Amino acid sequence: MDFSRFSLLPILLFAHLSPLPLTGSATAKPVTLPQSAPVPEQSARPGEQASGQADTPPLPQPRPDHTADQPVAPADTPLPSEKPKGEAEKDNAPAKPAKPLADPRSANKAAETMPEEELECRKRLNALGVVFEDRKAEHDAEAGCALPYPVSVKSLGVSVELAPQALMNCQMAEAAARFIKDTISPAATAELGSPLKSIAQASAYVCRPRHNGQKMSEHAFGNALDIASFTLQDGSIVEVGPAPGQKPAKFLDTVRKKACGPFKTVLGPGSDADHARHFHLDLEPRRNGGTFCQ
Ligand SMILES: [Zn+2]
Repeated sequence: MDFSRFSLLPILLFAHLSPLPLTGSATAKPVTLPQSAPVPEQSARPGEQASGQADTPPLPQPRPDHTADQPVAPADTPLPSEKPKGEAEKDNAPAKPAKPLADPRSANKAAETMPEEELECRKRLNALGVVFEDRKAEHDAEAGCALPYPVSVKSLGVSVELAPQALMNCQMAEAAARFIKDTISPAATAELGSPLKSIAQASAYVCRPRHNGQKMSEHAFGNALDIASFTLQDGSIVEVGPAPGQKPAKFLDTVRKKACGPFKTVLGPGSDADHARHFHLDLEPRRNGGTFCQ
């Protein structure tokens, strides 16, 4: 591809914008890479490194320039984007891996016929009242993303819409539908006086690494769901966020606590800045069946 037409402007702009307190890997410009700048990927927690960074809303964070649903051109904008390959080695900023750690799931591809376990999962979705459609496999070997048997989910149970409809793996859809049926819907009725009507999701399948770039996000396997708000049949909306009032706060607290177990990772407001406005739920396989809930 010929980027020459695009290359000059970003360089000029970037030069004017510097110094940016971020890893200065994004451009060919040899100037003003602050050696002592704080590095944004250092927030791993002891014992559970990366988990607190499991996902992010679409802030201007580093991301691969080969994200499946992104056109290539915007990668040329002077954002602090993920380092282009080949340039990472030139700057001696503290090592940020050029690529996230390999995840064996990245190699998963769809077989010619759907495996029995996937078929069985779809039967369970139907039994739960989930409205969904099968979609073609998502696979980006270079980026490390794979979703061999996606379902596009419109509802996560009888009369519980998922808005907007979202792509995920069948296991995640099933876990979410069960959790709604067993926990969220009863809690809405009991604590807020109205049944659940719909759930607003902030992201499901997204081909990207985790925020810190060290591992692939569970979103990259369709194995995660971010919930931004709950709408009840009486029209009220409970947004995930700070101080929503006593009853909504109790409802959110119930949902969050009970999510730990059915989901292997549960993050939300207070976990870190990236989760201030949504619950992140995923089914990341952990050693000994453990959970990470924060
Ligand atoms: Zn998430």
